[in-house]
Amino acid sequence: MNSEFRQDIISGDWVVIAPKRLKRPEPFLRKEKRKIIPKKDCPFDNLKNSGNDKTILTVPNSQDWKVKIIPNKFPILAHKNLCARESRKGPYKINEGIGYHDVLITRNHFKNFPNLAKEDALLVFKTLQERYKKLIEDKCVKYVSIFHNWGPKAGASIFHPHFQILSLPIIPPDIKRSLEGSREYFQERNKCAHCVMIEYEKSDKKRVVYENKEVISFTPFVAREPFELRVFPKKHLPYFEDTSEEIIKYIIEALQVSLIKIEKKLGDPDYNLFIHTAPSFGKDAYDHYHWHIEVLPKFSISAGFELGTGIEVTIIDPEAAAKILKHGI
Ligand SMILES: [Zn+2]
Ligand SMILES: [Zn+2]
Repeated sequence: MNSEFRQDIISGDWVVIAPKRLKRPEPFLRKEKRKIIPKKDCPFDNLKNSGNDKTILTVPNSQDWKVKIIPNKFPILAHKNLCARESRKGPYKINEGIGYHDVLITRNHFKNFPNLAKEDALLVFKTLQERYKKLIEDKCVKYVSIFHNWGPKAGASIFHPHFQILSLPIIPPDIKRSLEGSREYFQERNKCAHCVMIEYEKSDKKRVVYENKEVISFTPFVAREPFELRVFPKKHLPYFEDTSEEIIKYIIEALQVSLIKIEKKLGDPDYNLFIHTAPSFGKDAYDHYHWHIEVLPKFSISAGFELGTGIEVTIIDPEAAAKILKHGI
């Protein structure tokens, strides 16, 4: 395949798929074993000693907890009982860095999310939904970002599997563009852009990695990174927090299967995983949006071309990436 530029139908962003830069797919197969940090050195297994014994939530209870939410010891944002105030400095707009920065930890030091038992993975998602709903009660919150970094290359400074939940006083730029793009698409065509993408992926089949009754996972046509993966509920659902337990179970199944494919076929690479969902304030305003999960394995670093142009170079086409995830290198 020759190089080609592909444009995202929602953000309008371009990527360049340049498979000629890749001679063989083997470089994607991670050879070195993941470094396992012993439990005795883990701050999450020794919360009292690490001076972080505040607990926000334990599920199902404080004794036999499976999932726990604690405040991040080194938060990006700090909470105050005030909304973030806006001000100006010269030509610049400033907004105070107010918000919650939580960490959700699962009990087992050695089992990462894809390898959790179904019921434990469900507890993770139900706890994320519960905390999300609690955070958006705060009128100052404009967006809640949920993400999971796996491995040091993906920015995880602690080995013990964990998710992070950040409430923000602004709508982040990527989300804003995605929301605006989705709204414009809807206004022009009376259709959800994500639903259109899902229909196309189902008919074209080349990029589908896994599918069950309610959920589809595929490598997007406009992939920003090698082996980028997206997981969508097939029904048009704008809001993560309102998604029924039944659908969440299908989401978890598809997500775990897809992540295990990444783990097994690519040799357990580091990755970032995040949820994109419609903001919940002024509900209905974002009904055109379609919540989903994005997974970005960490294979490339942005260099001069990417940083200078905003165009990501993806050195394996998403069609070949899907094939590898299904059948191996
Ligand atoms: Zn641990
Ligand atoms: Zn949709």
